[in-house]
Amino acid sequence: MIAGNWKMHMTHLEAIGLVQKVVFSLKENELDTAEVVVLPPFTALRSVQTLVTGDKLGIGYGAQDLAAADSGAYTGEVSGGMLSALGCSYVAVGHSERRALHGEDDAVVAAKVNAALRHGIVPILCVGEGLDVRRAGTHVAHCTGQLDAALEGLTAEQLTAPGDGTGIGAGPGGGLVIAYEPVWAIGTGEVATPEDAQEVCGALRARLAERFGTETAQSVRILYGGSVKAANTAGILAGADIDGALVGGASLDADEFAQICRIAA
Ligand code: PGA
Repeated sequence: MIAGNWKMHMTHLEAIGLVQKVVFSLKENELDTAEVVVLPPFTALRSVQTLVTGDKLGIGYGAQDLAAADSGAYTGEVSGGMLSALGCSYVAVGHSERRALHGEDDAVVAAKVNAALRHGIVPILCVGEGLDVRRAGTHVAHCTGQLDAALEGLTAEQLTAPGDGTGIGAGPGGGLVIAYEPVWAIGTGEVATPEDAQEVCGALRARLAERFGTETAQSVRILYGGSVKAANTAGILAGADIDGALVGGASLDADEFAQICRIAA
């Protein structure tokens, strides 16, 4: 699975151009074994939906965040129900930029994971350590701790349920995706080594198995994110517990993104 996190880039008009270029770059059978998803800003979701729905490549899409609540007096927020109505299959939750810049703590992240699941949208739960934690050598415990907190109170059934049965908002590969994104590797050009990425992704899978059983742990896709480009994709994806990549900067370049998708497939 390759997911493109566009962050706060692309007007809806620019989004149309980018998706068209990605679709033009890829041939029908080039994505046979990879699922490709884009996460545009809210304002571009409708345009992206129109472009990719029914397209031969089957590119999926989702949002970068959602509200914990379902509706009400929450000025500026966007609910899971609204995203589901737009056909979003995925939503990123707990990205380090949301945690750092918008004060999202573990409780907020857990509430948002719940909100996504309630609406049959697969959360892409982001975890990852900062440089201080990495230097202290406690990165594995830090990431499994974030995982535990975000999945507090959930059952294996909730994590494997294929959406709400309406045919929209249901990801094809099960109910949860995890993205391991070391904060020091995001947007810095400093990618984790394949061994470092596998160490944490393997620990996350083991923790899922402990809590929810092996079958559920195997059904969860675990992505690596942080300065992924075409040149380092193959090395990262070689990790036994790495099922894909969450790509930021490089997802804004159609040729580069298409090449990453090709390497993954
Ligand atoms: P980057 O971002 O690929 O630009 O490092 C990854 C992310 O934040 O999801």
